[in-house]
Order: sequence, then structure tokens, then C-alpha cells
Amino acid sequence: MSDASRRERAPASASSDAGGMEAVIGLEIHVQLQTERKLFCPDSTRFGDAPNSNVCPVCLGLPGALPTVNGEAVELAVRAALAFGCTVHETSVFARKNYFYPDLPKGYQISQFERPLATDGRFTVQSEEGEHEVRIRRIHMEEDAGKSLHDRFPRATAVDLNRAGTPLIELVSEPDLRSPEEARGYLQQVKRVIEYLDVSDCNMEEGSLRVDANVSIRPRGVTTLGTKTEVKNMNSFSGVEKALTAEIRRQKEVVAQGGEVEHMTLLWDEVKGEVRPMRTKEESHDYRYFPEPDLPPLVISSDRIEALRLELPELPADRSRRFRVELDLPEYDAEVLTASRALADYFEAVAKATGNAKRASNWVMGPILAMMKEGNLGAEELPVRPEVLVELIELVEEGAVSQNVGKNVLRTMAETGDSAREIVQREGLTQVRDPEQLEGWVDEVLESHPEEVARFGEGEKRLRGFFMGEVMKRSKGKADPGEVARLLALKLEVSPDPRRSS
Ligand code: ADP
Ligand code: MG
Repeated sequence: MSDASRRERAPASASSDAGGMEAVIGLEIHVQLQTERKLFCPDSTRFGDAPNSNVCPVCLGLPGALPTVNGEAVELAVRAALAFGCTVHETSVFARKNYFYPDLPKGYQISQFERPLATDGRFTVQSEEGEHEVRIRRIHMEEDAGKSLHDRFPRATAVDLNRAGTPLIELVSEPDLRSPEEARGYLQQVKRVIEYLDVSDCNMEEGSLRVDANVSIRPRGVTTLGTKTEVKNMNSFSGVEKALTAEIRRQKEVVAQGGEVEHMTLLWDEVKGEVRPMRTKEESHDYRYFPEPDLPPLVISSDRIEALRLELPELPADRSRRFRVELDLPEYDAEVLTASRALADYFEAVAKATGNAKRASNWVMGPILAMMKEGNLGAEELPVRPEVLVELIELVEEGAVSQNVGKNVLRTMAETGDSAREIVQREGLTQVRDPEQLEGWVDEVLESHPEEVARFGEGEKRLRGFFMGEVMKRSKGKADPGEVARLLALKLEVSPDPRRSS
């Protein structure tokens, strides 16, 4: 195992600071791989199918049925392992993890134990306090269990085995996180990488991304680890943060009352906002792991591993850095724009076509993100594609339409699918810069508000905004605001400020 390389950081939150105790957190993240078929049989992995419709003797564990490994799943797992800087082992070994549970028809889960697919990775997490590194202990492959459904029949639990055998990777971090906020940031950034890799859809509500959070506390300055507990059942980022905050508080109370934290597993109750004990924690020997006798060791050639390494896409941290360095964007923009690969692609297409990255960023981070939020859309689903957005940006830049009118045109583009130029022409939205026309509006406004003009003359300069608003109203938003400001200054001020009238 590699050395800890974290820099000393200030405590990230009050919750990890109180009482001179610090929190120590390690996450186990289960990620469902985006394959059409299960890990050891050809059943479909589709979400939402009729219960128990995608099952066969292999995933039901019927006697004599033999598993075979899905090569596509292995490649996705290797991609992920490489992206997290792990050493991918040419030989790894599947193992049986034995336990009894209603949703586990075989009585064991095929996982990897002593010889996992990949070990010793590193992941750099960006936070407001800078960067810090989280060591990845291992990434192994395993199959998912089925699902117990408690809401189908009164007073009975139903079991749906469609998910049994779905391919997963488990990504285990070293205990390198120090606060619930840090854990959340790490998780969000891990998810972003996995999405960029096209390894999983990471849908937390559908269970494609599940997290077990391990946490202990210790007096600040101490380097040994305290007894940890494991919290399960969080299905959102905020759930992870809240559950950890609650559990750290609970552990601190136990210690403050002279007690000792007990090794156990707890469930997060989102509704009550509290953790409650599920069972005293099992040890790995309770699972009686042994090598899976029905599968040979998993062998991947170093050539194949290197080929997969070459196929890795640009990862979000690199892309964000490139946006800062090559496109000269502020860090904030770079982070927002790389939140998803689709959004980054969208932005880059706009930036390329307009030749102005900051301008493209303003449009994407402003009206485009607002549109995504409003319609709950991903960037790939946006009705206004980059090619047609560019035309609108040009119209605004040329001064043909104002910024504000531009935003309305964008909305119409989304609704009708028409081009910016068509809409501007049809609705007569072209910005008015004709001096006579503008002067006419300005004069009308000043003539109909003699009282305000007088007050302005007496020094009430903030009325400038009022006059401006009136002119814009009269022009239905089409007047060129710069010109209007210049004309107003000219007509209102005895000695106009030259900076304002330009
Ligand atoms: P277990 O055998 O209980 O599964 P592991 O040593 O395999 O424990 O670690 C599982 C996860 O718990 C890892 O993510 C690891 O970083 C984290 N972890 C281990 N010990 C501690 C601790 N004392 N405090 C917080 N997290 C821990
Ligand atoms: Mg474990």
C-alpha cells in the first residue's frame, strides 16, 4: 500500500472539529456497469422490467448451471480502474462471498476477494480549499444481488431477482476523507469520472451507484484509526453527507459520555434524518470467502490493458484544466462546464464556432443552464443545439438584437425549433439604432414626465434608470440601450459626464 500523501488541511467543517476530535471516512462505492447483459449469464440488465422476468438457471443458482464471464463488463471495469490510476492485474480471481439473504438465491455472491482486478489507485479531489488526494485501495468486480420489495404486498416482502447477476465494480477508498462535505465532494467527482468513461449511468435513484460510508473519530493529532462503523442506505449525495454528519455526532456523544464506539452497521433513515443500528458488523471471515470453483482466474493480457488505456477519453479534471489554461476561463466556469461530458461537449462546440470561449461560457452558464434546470434536461437533450445557438449569439454580437431580446428569442427557438434569424425577422425584434427613431422615443418620455425631469435636475440622479426603463418600454425592448443612455445623458445633463455619454 502506498504512503499517505494528503496535505495538511484546515478542518473542513465544524462537525469534524468540535471537541478536538476529527472524523476519518472511507467510502465503498458500488457502480453498476452499463452492459446489456448480466455478468455471468446472457439475461438482460434492463431496469424496470416485470419482476423476475430476466432470470435463468445461472443467476438463480440452479444446480449444475455454470457461469461464464461477460467480456464487455471486464473491459468497462478495466477502464474505470485505469481512470482511477490503479494497477490492473493481468490475473485476478473470482471468489464466493457466502451469506444468507432472501434476495440472494445462490446463497453466495460471486465477487473478488484476495486477488482483485485492480489495486493502488489515486484520485485527486478538487475542493474549495484546494486539491487533495484520496488513495484507492482496490477496484474489484462482483455481481449484484436481487431486490427485496416491501411495498408490493401488505405484511409480506416480495423478491425481484432481475437485478441478481448485474455486473458491478466496487471501488474502495483508503480512509483519506476528513469530513462529510469532503466525502460528498469525492463521491460527486468519482461519479463524474465514471460518467465521462461511459462505464455507468450512475443513476442513484435506480441504484446504479450505491455507497457504504465507513467512519470513525479520533483525537486530532492521533494517527492510528479508531473503531469504525459503516452506514448504508443513502441514495443521494446530500443523503451521504447528512448520514455521515449524524453518525459522527452520534459517535462523539458516545465518547463524550465515556463510552466506546462499537463496530457495527447502521442504516440511514432519510425520513427521520437519523442512523439506526442494523446489525453488529460482520468480519470478512463471516463470509467464508473461497475461490469460485466454477470460474477460472480472470486473465487480461497487458496488451489489452494498454490498448484500453489508450482508449480512455479526456477525464473531467484534465478537461477542466484545459478550459482554464487553453481557453483562459475562470476556474468556476471550467468546473461548471465540465460537470458532465455532454455539457462540456456542448460548450466546446459553441466556443469553437464563435471563436470566443468566455462569450460561449456566458451563454452556456447563463441561459442554457437555466433552460436545463427549468426542463430538468441533460445537455444532450437540449432542444437548441450548439450550431443554431451560434447564430443567435452572432445576432446579439452584431447588435441586431439586444441581450434581453436574445434570451427571449432563445426561448422561442426551443419551443418552435425555428432559427434565431427567422424568429427575429418574423417578430420584428431587430434592435433599433436609428438615431431619429431613438431620439423620438427619448423626447416622448421626457415630455410626458416633466416632474421627474425637474427632480433629476435637482440631483435625483437615480431617475436615470427610470427614464431608461420608460424608453425601453416604449420601444418594446428593441432600443439599443447604449444609444439610449447616451441620448438621455445628452438631454438631461447640463454638463454630461463624457464617460457616460460615449
Ligand atoms: P471491513 O473489513 O470492515 O470491510 P476494510 O478495512 O475492508 O473494512 O475497509 C472498508 C472501508 O472502510 C474502506 O473504504 C476503508 O477506507 C474504510 N475504513 C477502514 N477502517 C476505517 C476506520 N477506522 N475509519 C474510517 N474508515 C475506515
Ligand atoms: Mg468491506
